[in-house]
Amino acid sequence: MDKTARIAVVGAGIAGLTVAGLLRQQGYSVTVFDQAQSFWRIGSGIILGASTAKVMRQLGIEADMVRAGVKPDAFVSRDVTTGEVLNELVFDAEAEGRFGGPFVNIHRADLHQILLSTLAPETLHFDHQLAGIDHAADGVRLSFTNGQHFDTDLVIGADGIRSVVRDLVQGTSAPRYVGKVALRATFPTEKIAGVPMRDCTKWWGDDRHLLAYYMSERRDECYIMGAVPSDDWDESTPPREGSREDFLNGFAGAHDDLLGLMMAAEKVQLLPICDRTRNDKWSDGRIVLAGDACHAVRPFMAAGGSMAIEDGAILARAIAAGSSPEDAFRIYETMRITRVGDVQRISAENSWLKTPHPTEWFFGYDPYAHELSKAA
Ligand SMILES: Cc1cc2nc3c(=O)[nH]c(=O)nc-3n(C[C@H](O)[C@H](O)[C@H](O)COP(=O)(O)OP(=O)(O)OC[C@H]3O[C@@H](n4cnc5c(N)ncnc54)[C@H](O)[C@@H]3O)c2cc1C
Repeated sequence: MDKTARIAVVGAGIAGLTVAGLLRQQGYSVTVFDQAQSFWRIGSGIILGASTAKVMRQLGIEADMVRAGVKPDAFVSRDVTTGEVLNELVFDAEAEGRFGGPFVNIHRADLHQILLSTLAPETLHFDHQLAGIDHAADGVRLSFTNGQHFDTDLVIGADGIRSVVRDLVQGTSAPRYVGKVALRATFPTEKIAGVPMRDCTKWWGDDRHLLAYYMSERRDECYIMGAVPSDDWDESTPPREGSREDFLNGFAGAHDDLLGLMMAAEKVQLLPICDRTRNDKWSDGRIVLAGDACHAVRPFMAAGGSMAIEDGAILARAIAAGSSPEDAFRIYETMRITRVGDVQRISAENSWLKTPHPTEWFFGYDPYAHELSKAA
């Protein structure tokens, strides 16, 4: 599409910042809106597969991401009770070459800052909560709850699992509580002196699991995230503070190595885990969705962020290649829906990396290696 096309991105999360940075790089005028007053440092980490490194490379920030995060030596799967090692996917130089990039664990706030560095500061408008979108003959008008309006040619809805833009494209619906609560904690590594902790381990139980990893090369801070069944929550229950007991009760009978980690948890946050049922309508006229706004997955494959980043790469390419918004969005949907559908299914099964299986298709994916396709 013509470089004069004005593009608005709603949501300055992983998807929104990625696509905005890439579109800006291509010479488009991009404006990003977020409801938050400003960015704040939420205490959690994120795992990013090698496909995202290729997008960061395109943006010129791969080295920044690697420097801020940690390249784990392996992804290890262990049994919650016996501690038996069920799988170990090694991330050495050979694997990095095979996948075409590193696997990186990073603090979310660091990832946001790095993505943000690809945008001019005046591009981003905080305190702009989208209220609605009106269609006009030559574009669309965004309305915000602060009374402001913005006229644009294209809208990218990257406003997360509770997306307002999604409601306009697909009709209103609520996220789906998946019957499990996430327990999250970070703590200094010095609190687990003597407890063995690998760079990145997933502890597997029958109906629950816990992921433990470092978020930087210094390995001075640990992040643990458990998922345990609960009937007491639903999709509208707000996150709340928990305690170490929530971990200990959720993983009663845990192996000593895991017990040692949970004993270090002090500040614990609980939140309901939600996803969305698959819906392949990702666009409507001049409006398109990206990231969790169109395909929120359960965080059991640790792939939602990677999908949001890959979306950004393909959407930016499709906008540059398309002859109209509809044409561009058709290309984007054709390139993304099947892959994202596979990730949605595997995330729901919660089977990824439990035991050895092919991983090339996921980590080896390169959003720049595929020719853009219009075929469904
Ligand atoms: C517990 C947990 C652990 C996870 N772990 C991983 C992991 O290890 N690896 C991985 O790849 N993924 C992981 N995920 C998934 C990942 O966090 C999400 O898929 C990813 O953050 C989606 O990015 P996004 O940009 O689409 O949405 P978000 O990050 O949710 O960003 C949406 C943005 O839109 C803004 N917004 C919302 N509504 C409006 C509005 N009306 N107007 C203006 N702005 C608005 C919000 O303020 C926010 O900044 C995890 C998820 C959870 C819940």
